[in-house]
Amino acid sequence: RMASPALLMRVVASAYSVAEKAATIVRNVMSAGDLGIVEKAGPNDLQTKADRLVQMSICASLARKFPKVTIIGEEDLPTDDVTEELIEDGHCEEILKKPCPAQYAGIKEEELVIWVDPLDGTKEYTEGCLLDHVTVLIGIAYGGKAIAGVINQPYYNYEAGAGAVLGRTIWGVLGIGAFGFQLTEAPAGKHIIVTTRSHSSTLVNECISALNPDTVIRVGGAGNKVIQLIEGKASAYIFASPGCKKWDTCAPEAILHAVGGKITDIRGNSFQYNKEVKHMNSAGVLATLRNYDYYASRIPNTVKESLVP
Ligand code: AMP
Ligand code: MG
Ligand code: MG
Repeated sequence: RMASPALLMRVVASAYSVAEKAATIVRNVMSAGDLGIVEKAGPNDLQTKADRLVQMSICASLARKFPKVTIIGEEDLPTDDVTEELIEDGHCEEILKKPCPAQYAGIKEEELVIWVDPLDGTKEYTEGCLLDHVTVLIGIAYGGKAIAGVINQPYYNYEAGAGAVLGRTIWGVLGIGAFGFQLTEAPAGKHIIVTTRSHSSTLVNECISALNPDTVIRVGGAGNKVIQLIEGKASAYIFASPGCKKWDTCAPEAILHAVGGKITDIRGNSFQYNKEVKHMNSAGVLATLRNYDYYASRIPNTVKESLVP
């Protein structure tokens, strides 16, 4: 008889199915037509019915299976009393079949922290176009490090026309790799920067100009921007501003690191994901699949000094 799979692999396998259910909720809320938009900190910080239902679905589903894991979601909502129809109890068999990296095989529930962004790219979601900028992010941290993650893109392929399969799930674990997409390098010798579409500032633009890029791509979502890196659409994700939080970066970080990329704040500090950590990534984001040092070394000191971690 095979020993039962390691906890980490069971959590990732469940997170995969939970993220697929989340994607269905995201699409259903949009097609029902009532987004129920609420402003949080202001007009650039929105919450919809999809953010709320998905947060409850993900947090309650994972908490039921893994009651001692710490789960931190973006939205401030109760997790008790969640209706049964929001609960997902399935898992991805293919993930369970992969051996757990030895250094993670003994992890206990109380040692894991799961960071949940139920809907990343809410601004683009509410605008109804650019729906493929939207992702569902489930990041898994151990010892303060992002070690595994799931990114679901509910509207992947939505412009590809009839016959194309809508939506996809990308997952990864450090020491195993990342799956559900085709790893592609950005064009050699070109500097293509991907950054925010809806949260720009003078500093964000100053930083990008200083890097003298060939192209600047402005898209929504932290998850979507890391997808641009791993699919070779952009060479660096640069956001010289506070605003991005731990639930935005945890899953993307794990997947990017699983394929040899690197993400830090603008000053070069790595992110911490222990449960006590401050939520805001106050010193911004710098991420690449390759050539991290090229971009890190060209960020002006004045920009770095403007961002306090
Ligand atoms: P963006 O690249 O603008 O889509 O931002 C990536 C993530 O960080 C999204 O979850 C945004 O909601 C969040 N974010 C970035 N800047 C801000 C801001 N100024 N206020 C609120 N949320 C922000
Ligand atoms: Mg987000
Ligand atoms: Mg969100």
